[in-house]
Amino acid sequence: MASNANGASNHAQKDALARTKRWWFGLLTKSVFVTCVAVYVATELTGLDALIHTWRRLPYSAHHLLATYPLVDAHADVPMAIAEKLAGDVSKFKLNTSALGTHVDMPRMRAGRVASMVMAAYVPCGNASIKETHAMMQLVRDIADADDENVVIAKTASDVRLAHATRRVALVMGVEGLHAFEDETRTPVEESIRNARRLGARVITLNHNCHTAVTDSCCADAQPAKSVGGDGSRGLHRPEVLLLLNDLGLVVDLSHASVAAAADVLRLSRAPVIFSHSGAYELCEHPRNVPSNLLPLVRANGGLVMVPFHPPFLCGDSVLAVVEHISFLARHLGIRHVGLGSDYDGIPKGVRGLHTGVDAYPVLVDALLERFSPSDVALVIGGNFLRVWDNVLRQASTAV
Ligand SMILES: [Zn+2]
Repeated sequence: MASNANGASNHAQKDALARTKRWWFGLLTKSVFVTCVAVYVATELTGLDALIHTWRRLPYSAHHLLATYPLVDAHADVPMAIAEKLAGDVSKFKLNTSALGTHVDMPRMRAGRVASMVMAAYVPCGNASIKETHAMMQLVRDIADADDENVVIAKTASDVRLAHATRRVALVMGVEGLHAFEDETRTPVEESIRNARRLGARVITLNHNCHTAVTDSCCADAQPAKSVGGDGSRGLHRPEVLLLLNDLGLVVDLSHASVAAAADVLRLSRAPVIFSHSGAYELCEHPRNVPSNLLPLVRANGGLVMVPFHPPFLCGDSVLAVVEHISFLARHLGIRHVGLGSDYDGIPKGVRGLHTGVDAYPVLVDALLERFSPSDVALVIGGNFLRVWDNVLRQASTAV
C-alpha cells in the first residue's frame, strides 16, 4: 500500500512539474512573439536606421558620456576675460559670474562637465609684452592655486585623464601668438618659448591677427607679409622655431596662421599640429577657417581641426551649425581629426544653444549623439586631442 501511495505521489509531482514547464515555455514563447511584434511595429513606425541608432546610443545620455570620457576645449580666452572683466581678480572666477558676462566659471564648468580647457594667454597685436603674457599665465596658475582641491594645471594628456577620473578640472596653459614674444626687450623668441614652457605653457598658437618673424597670419589685413618666398607660397620663415617647438613637446596651433604658413608647418612638423579654433572654409568662407586643400595635409600630419562656437566662423547661429562643421570635417578629414575649441570668453557670444557658456556642453553632446556613435562623439569632444598631445610628447626630445 505504502509503495502504491508513493508511486501515485511521484506521478502527481511529475505531472505538476510538466505543467510548470509547459507554463513557462508558453510564457517564453508568448514573450518572444510579443517582443518580435513590438520590434516590427517600432521598425515600421520609426525606420530601421533610427531604431538601430537609438539602440546604439541607448546607454548614453550626454551626462553619462561626459562622465565616462573627458571633454577638452582647446581654446578659451579666460585670462583675458579675467584681466578685463574681473579686473584681474581671480577670486571672482570661483563665483557664478554669468552676470559679469563671462562664458566660463567654476560652477558652470562643473555643470557642463568640462574635464579640461586650454586657457590662452593673449595680448593684442601691436601691444606685445612678455611681462603681460606671463601675468596672464600667472592668472591661470592662481585659479588652480585658489581651488586646488578641484582644479589642477595639466602638463600632459595623462594629467587630464587623471583629473577627469578624480572629477577635477585640468587647465592647460597656452600662449596665443608669438608676437607676444617680439616686444621691446629683444629677447630671442627661442628663449621666450623656453621660458613660457618653464612657466607651464603647453600649447603655442603661432599667430594672432598679425604677422611675426616666424609665420604669416591669415588676417593681418593692414600689414604686409614680412617676407614671402620667391614662389610666393611660403609662410613659415623660421623653420628652426617650429622644430624647437617639436623638441620641447609643445602643441603647435595654426589657428590665425596664413594658408601658406599652415601648409609649410603641416609639411615640416615632426609632431601633429592643431587648428585650435577654426571651422571648415568650405562651409563658411572666413579667412580664419581651414580650406579644403589643407585637409589632406592635416590628415597626413595626424593633426586636428577644432571647431569654434563663434557664429561668424560658422556662417550659422545655432548648435546645429557647430554640428554641421564637425560632420563636414568628419566626412572629408576623418572623425579622428576633429575636435572642439569654443573660443569662449574671446567671442562676444556663442551660437544659440551654447551661448550661455561652458554649462551648455551637454546640449552639444546630445546634438552630436543624434548623428554619431558614442565612441565617435568621445573622440570629437576630447579623445582626439589627448591622443594628439600624447603623440606630440612622443616626438619631443625634452622630458616633460
Ligand atoms: Zn583666437
